[in-house]
Amino acid sequence: MRRAVYTFAGVLRQRGPLWPAGLALRAARCMLGGIPRGLVVEPCEACTGGCRGCVTPPRPAILEPKTLEAWIAARKAPPATIHFAGRHSDPLASPLLAELVAVARAHASMVSVSTIGLDMDGATARLPVDRWIVSLPAATRETWRAVKGTDRFGEAVEAVRMISASRSGAVIEVVLTKWAGSAGDGPAFAELAAREGWRNTTIVHTLHDPSGSAYSDPAVLALGEPDCPYGLDASGRVALTRPRAGCPQAGYLCIDARGTLRPCPFSGADVPLIPEPSRGAWREARGWRAAKSSRSFPNCRICP
Ligand code: SF4
Repeated sequence: MRRAVYTFAGVLRQRGPLWPAGLALRAARCMLGGIPRGLVVEPCEACTGGCRGCVTPPRPAILEPKTLEAWIAARKAPPATIHFAGRHSDPLASPLLAELVAVARAHASMVSVSTIGLDMDGATARLPVDRWIVSLPAATRETWRAVKGTDRFGEAVEAVRMISASRSGAVIEVVLTKWAGSAGDGPAFAELAAREGWRNTTIVHTLHDPSGSAYSDPAVLALGEPDCPYGLDASGRVALTRPRAGCPQAGYLCIDARGTLRPCPFSGADVPLIPEPSRGAWREARGWRAAKSSRSFPNCRICP
């Protein structure tokens, strides 16, 4: 709730007093059209991280802006929000991110980007984005190295400075995502935030995604932390410690870097997918609502 209020106030400051009306109108049109109000869009399958053990596709797909346009044009109503995020990838690795943001800005009332922050440059920091979420896997150079096997902590901190210095007015949220190697980084993160003047911070745990990469190994999760949503079940497999109800992405659908519509960014290849944009595709996707809210897809089992 705190995150939503901070974001709302920040975007209101940036976009002006008429912005909430436009947002509400778009959300209402989506509701009347029976389509989710938000889109999560994966700009590319490539990543900037170069983390130890991570395997990315040899020829990563890059989402074309015209594909995003086509999906939006096929809807009964444009989305209220568009959020660019990776799925074992990072938006900043797309050479077309600026064009994708322009498409999103033209059609949605709020545009946000989640990134690890690496390879940020001045032009990217100045993009007309309403909200940046910079997700750090560790709060010190040493723990970054332990988690990611690289020495790029300083670059990520510098990325947040670049967004601030751009004076674009975007809301900036810095998130510490805890892994086993950065499980004790809470106090260091608080110190870092105070030093850097970050007012909007959050701590979460990394998502356990067995369909993803080597990072799905239970050994990389901060399983001993009291706020970790995961533990080991009787057979030694990672499982949510408390059953979750509903779907955290109930109001969103995802378009991946191949231009495929999927129920959410965390779903694997074992869910229904729609490869081509059309009015019928959005109608068909309505049928996913029940499976999402009852957590019937395979990855819903471990979705925090
Ligand atoms: S994995 Fe399931 S519960 Fe989680 S966001 Fe996706 S559809 Fe919703």
